[in-house]
Formats: sequence, structure tokens, C-alpha cells
Amino acid sequence: MIRLQSLSKKYPDGIQAVNNLSLEVKEGEICILIGPSGCGKTTTLMMINRLIKNTSGDVFIKGKSINGLNSSQLRRNIGYVIQEIALFPHLTVEENIQIVPELKGWSKEKKEKRVFELLNLIGMDPEIYKDKYPYELSGGQKQRIGVARGMGGNPPIMLMDEPFGSIDPITRSRLQDEFLSIQEQVKKTIIFVTHDINEALKMGDKLAIMREGELVQFASPREILSQPANSFVEDFIGTDRSLKWLRLVRVEEYMIKNIEVATCEESSQKILQKMDQMQRDDLMIVDNNNRLKGYILRKDISEKNKQSINNIIRPFRENVERKTTILDAFIRLTTTDADFLPVLDNNLRVEGLITGEILNKQMNKTYQIEENGGANDNE
Ligand code: ADP
Ligand code: MG
Repeated sequence: MIRLQSLSKKYPDGIQAVNNLSLEVKEGEICILIGPSGCGKTTTLMMINRLIKNTSGDVFIKGKSINGLNSSQLRRNIGYVIQEIALFPHLTVEENIQIVPELKGWSKEKKEKRVFELLNLIGMDPEIYKDKYPYELSGGQKQRIGVARGMGGNPPIMLMDEPFGSIDPITRSRLQDEFLSIQEQVKKTIIFVTHDINEALKMGDKLAIMREGELVQFASPREILSQPANSFVEDFIGTDRSLKWLRLVRVEEYMIKNIEVATCEESSQKILQKMDQMQRDDLMIVDNNNRLKGYILRKDISEKNKQSINNIIRPFRENVERKTTILDAFIRLTTTDADFLPVLDNNLRVEGLITGEILNKQMNKTYQIEENGGANDNE
């Protein structure tokens, strides 16, 4: 979708801000440009929508060089969220968001509909906010409007320069979550600048790590963590690589999926049979809608309670979802007395389970990666 080919920028004063940068962003992906201040991130972004003219190399969008495109066309198809959020102070929220739709010559109805859509998308009630001026908004709200304005004309491509830069950590983390769930619906192709490695690992499909205008590594968050290209990248990631790894990997990858469950009506014989089948000493008990009631341990089944298993069902104090990180799953497991946790969907139906043994293996694997400087994770 977007291809940078040996892209370079030398400013008139001789500073080589970007040097020979090549990378490709696929449709629907978030590519993060990350690196220390002054490494050329903003310059790169502005060369993509030609706000800055490159000195050599080229940028291709869907295979066409941007030099062949007319500049206003180019900017209407690329949403741009600038570093220091700059809403026009004399325009209302609605008017700010309508800037590009206005340029595109949309009808009044279409423009108004778009404002409603976008305000709803970013979780700000249009009735309350559309007529407010920027000075009436909090920092976080202004950032959101900045993002909405970037998306105003529904561009397939978004360039975002530290969009959550000046927001406090808690609001920021919420905005990141919101943004990711919006992206799941809208699937834009995004180049996103940040200098925050945690933000990069969380948001990016790919990370382009830059240093002094040059690309040091271009890879997925996992590859970066497990196989940093050099000591600069290692230093940049920091010393808590294993922790970062555990925050990246989700339960769904390692959970046991095809598990047997039972209802309370089933005989203890049948239940023992199912445990044997799975080679486990426990079994989850569900109601008729497959909603979790608890679990039974083999050792609790005796002659005495053969008739009714109701009395020996143990409750779970914790559960996880597919998208729970391995780190959170581990923390939750340590607060219970079970040695496994149920994986539930949002209707509390059982989707599988994850065991302490599996989680432990992941933790150990991580330390191995740390020690070997890049063991592969494909086993
Ligand atoms: P980043 O966004 O990664 O912090 P920039 O792209 O803003 O980095 O800047 C890269 C380098 O280019 C820096 O050394 C900066 O001082 C320099 N630079 C940026 N803009 C200009 C300009 N208009 N004229 C001269 N040098 C510039
Ligand atoms: Mg910058």
C-alpha cells in the first residue's frame, strides 16, 4: 500500500534528517516509526504527504509515485494528525472535523452525518460536543478531536505524529485501547509516530526503529523483542524484555481448546471417563447453556458422592479471556488455588483452559530468549 524507497532528506543547512529509508506498509496495517527525538520521524511522515519535499528516493502509494499525484488530492486521501495537536481555535468541533469534507465538496447532509459518526466513534456525544470550541475541551478530548479531524474525509491512509503525546498515562492507555478497537472496524493503513516503546509494542503490526535518519530494524513487535538487530535496539527496548514479551502474547495462542466439559446431570462415572480422555484430574462443569459453574477434582469423587456431584463442585475465583495477556493470566492464576483457569467468552461460556504448566513454560521460554539473544519461538 505505502512503499518508501531509499527515501532521503537533507535540509538546506546540511542536516541529513532521513537517510536511505526503505520500508513497505501493507493495507490495513499499523506501522510505527519509533526512535529518539531528532531521528527523522516527523520529517519522514511529512515526506509521505509531500509537506516536505524529499531530496532523493521515492514514495509509492498503491504502486504510484506520489510525485505523479496532485498535492491537494494527495492530502485529501491521507489523513494527518499533527504532533502538537492544533485544532483551529476559532472553529467549533464540528467545523474542525469538517475541514477535509469541505475541501472534498461533500453535501451538507453528508458532512453532518460524518461528524456524528466520528464523534460517536471516539466516544464523545455529538449533541454535547459538536458546537464547543477547543478551549472548552480537556487535553484528552482535544487529542480525540484531532484524531477525528484526521479521519474526517474517510481517508484510506492516516499519518499520525505522536497523537497521544501530551496526555497523562491513564487517559493515554484508554485512548490506545479505543483507537485499536476503532481500527478493527475501519482498517486504515496507518503510519504512527511515537517515542514510547510500550506504545509502539502495543499498537504496531510492524515497528520501524530509526536512529539518526536511518532504519535500524523493521519487524513485528515479537521479532523486535526476541531478535533485536543490535545493541541499540536492545538498549531501546530496555532491560525488561521478558516482561514486555509476556504482555504481548495472548492466552488464545497457548490455551487448550478442544476440552471436554460436563453438566451436573452426568454420572460420576462419565465424568471420570472424560477426565481419562483428556488425561487430566479435573473437569469443568457447565449448565445447559455451556456457562461455567465450576470444576471437579478427581480426588473429590468417592463412593459417597457418586449419586450427585453437585456437592463437590468447586468455584473458580478467576478466569481469563482469549485476549488476556499471558502476564495477566499468570497473575490471576497465582491468586487462586486451582492450577488452571477457564477461558471464557463474554457470555461466560467455556472456550478452553490454560494451565499453570503452560504459563510457566512461556515464562521460561522468555528467559531463554533473553539468554540466547534470540531463540526462535516456532516450536
Ligand atoms: P523527530 O520527529 O524524530 O524528532 P525530525 O524529523 O523533526 O525528528 O528532525 C530530524 C532532524 O532534522 C533533526 O536533527 C532536526 O533538528 C532536523 N530538522 C527538522 N526540521 C528541520 C528544518 N526545517 N530545517 C533544518 N533542520 C531540520
Ligand atoms: Mg517529531
